[in-house]
Amino acid sequence: MGELTSDIQFLPGVGPKRAALIKRELDLHTLDDLIHFYPFRYIDRSTITPIVSATPDLAYVQVQGTVVSRNLVNIKHLSVIVDDGTARMEMVFFKGVKWNFDRLVPGATFLFFGKPQEYNGRINMVHPEVDAPQQDPNARGTLTGVYPATEKLKAGGITGKLMCKLQRAALALCLPEVQETLPKYILDAYGLCPLRVAMQNIHFPADMRALEMASRRLKFEELFYLQLSLLKQKYVRSRADTGLVMPAVGAPFHSCYNALPYRLTGAQQRVIKEIRADLSGGRQMNRLLQGDVGSGKTMVAVLSCLIAVGNGYQACIMAPTEVLARQHFANISKYLEPTGVQCALLTGSTTQKERRPILEGLADGSIGIVVGTHALIEDPVQYKALGLAVIDEQHRFGVGQRSRLWAKGPNGIPPHILVMTATPIPRTLAMTFYGDLDVSVIDEMPPGRKPVQTMLIGQNRLPAMYRFMRDEIKKGRQVFVVYPMIFINDKMEDISNVEQGYEDIVKAFPLEEGYKVAIVHGQQSNEQKSFNMKAFVEGRAQILVSTTVIEVGVDVPNASVMVIRSAQRFGLSQLHQLRGRVGRGAEKSYCILVQDPKTGKDAQERLELMCATEDGFEIAEKDLKMRGPGDLEGTQQSGMPIDLHIASLARDGSLLEEARACAQRVLDSDPTLEAPGNLLLARELRKGKYDFKDYSNIS
Ligand code: ADP
Ligand code: MG
Repeated sequence: MGELTSDIQFLPGVGPKRAALIKRELDLHTLDDLIHFYPFRYIDRSTITPIVSATPDLAYVQVQGTVVSRNLVNIKHLSVIVDDGTARMEMVFFKGVKWNFDRLVPGATFLFFGKPQEYNGRINMVHPEVDAPQQDPNARGTLTGVYPATEKLKAGGITGKLMCKLQRAALALCLPEVQETLPKYILDAYGLCPLRVAMQNIHFPADMRALEMASRRLKFEELFYLQLSLLKQKYVRSRADTGLVMPAVGAPFHSCYNALPYRLTGAQQRVIKEIRADLSGGRQMNRLLQGDVGSGKTMVAVLSCLIAVGNGYQACIMAPTEVLARQHFANISKYLEPTGVQCALLTGSTTQKERRPILEGLADGSIGIVVGTHALIEDPVQYKALGLAVIDEQHRFGVGQRSRLWAKGPNGIPPHILVMTATPIPRTLAMTFYGDLDVSVIDEMPPGRKPVQTMLIGQNRLPAMYRFMRDEIKKGRQVFVVYPMIFINDKMEDISNVEQGYEDIVKAFPLEEGYKVAIVHGQQSNEQKSFNMKAFVEGRAQILVSTTVIEVGVDVPNASVMVIRSAQRFGLSQLHQLRGRVGRGAEKSYCILVQDPKTGKDAQERLELMCATEDGFEIAEKDLKMRGPGDLEGTQQSGMPIDLHIASLARDGSLLEEARACAQRVLDSDPTLEAPGNLLLARELRKGKYDFKDYSNIS
């Protein structure tokens, strides 16, 4: 007993040195850790490739052939020619030369497994694995797991073969101790195999079917507990009656509403009703508002804030960037004019002198709505009665901040939370990132929005594009030119691209001819940034050259052209966000994607999809499939809040739906997980494996 917790060092073939390496490189310490380290792919050893079709573009092949000749080039170099009747191939050995020379005698047949490569115009394999020939092509045990490995591991002798050996030894010791983690009724209902069987087969599948059973079982378990954890939190919260009650709509709401220059769309009205029901219901609201770029989320946020104010509370609107906070503030102030509600802007660059009256106003309640960045939840900020927090573009809102937000509520009662996102989120992601939130969707665009015509061009068309830009500018329109941000060491942004781009544009659009070009990028000071931004927003500059700092939310209705340089470097969702910056005014708008030479096939496909559709959800689904969720935001450091071990949100969507339905059913009949048959579930949840990374619920 107790094998699971014993140190990997004591496994035969490991020892202190290799153990240290494995611990450092793979973070595996105990046998329990080790057996949960799964292969990331499997090699099908049952397939034998004819030598004639073994080409270097194949990752691995297995050929079966008879040794024709062997040539000891020197003491450290053995060359063996093998023939399988279709062609010949050279096998090269620089290690184990004597051992291989002795066994690979001419006339004998073997199975060779390795990576074919081209050398001097011929195909060979260096250091193939050599096995006895396959007798029965349907033999069992032909799938071999391949484990993630690093160069350091390989250099330290932890080869794939050794890893398989260690897994086999660890399983032999531990498997009897592995405890089932799902109740039998769930296993039965969903046709899942027992955990021990799954563990054995995920490492050493007897065949494809066994592997599928094992992987389905393990993925289901992971997704199920994730959903159970999320849904349980949601349930607990829905039971708590600690929400601030806001029964009235209030005068400020009506004065704003009545002064609106347009009618709300049906979707906006519906969402406001949903929010209003939450606010008056006596429980804390935790709602996600999804709506594509330009669908009019800001108005919904403002009216929601005014309900809070109308009930004697305050509201804050938190934006991810300074630029965006300023823009929000400018827009919102306009909407608030008829209401007389006081609104302030508080960001990291608000000076001490400006700050004092704002802090006072928030503390004494004279400021009703405050817009800003995360500065809003920093320590010195005290609210008289914060009733509602709106968080815009929540993807960029980190883990630690939520508890601080909680603490800002009056008398320890948490404010209502409305999270807004313009990134259309595929269903599977929404169910996971926002699994414990209620979701409202604005699925209707304000009237009069024109489709944006999207074109994909190469650099050879730049002169034509400049002519087109001049024509648009002549008509009084404005143009965005966006360059990708380039990260160095995760943080520093390489701005040489955008600076060079700026110079090119200034050359093509000289001041003497009346052109004004502004530039905004992440390495400018906040003053510089907002000064330049303002020049564009107010129409003094016709062209804005920038990095993706303008990505979210910036609203310049007069801009009709969005040029995206090195477009192949952007993710689909990001391109969609950028394109959403135009087409906001009455004029026909254009998005010009400029790709660099040698754009890869995947990137080319992404760009063509952009030309084909404007549907944000379709684009998001494709993006998830093409890039995987980690890259969803298109930056290197998007910070996936959950780190799934085996399941994939991109590929296992339907299993996720099943797992969520299962979790929901369990909780419907036993919300506190107290039934004897569910004690196992409660125990697993308590281990906390499934909730630590969840940051979506800002609660
Ligand atoms: P989002 O934040 O969802 O991207 P915004 O709230 O910035 O969108 O709205 C986009 C533009 O549409 C703004 O200029 C806004 O004034 C306008 N707008 C919002 N709602 C309506 C509506 N119901 N009818 C017409 N225009 C609207
Ligand atoms: Mg917005």
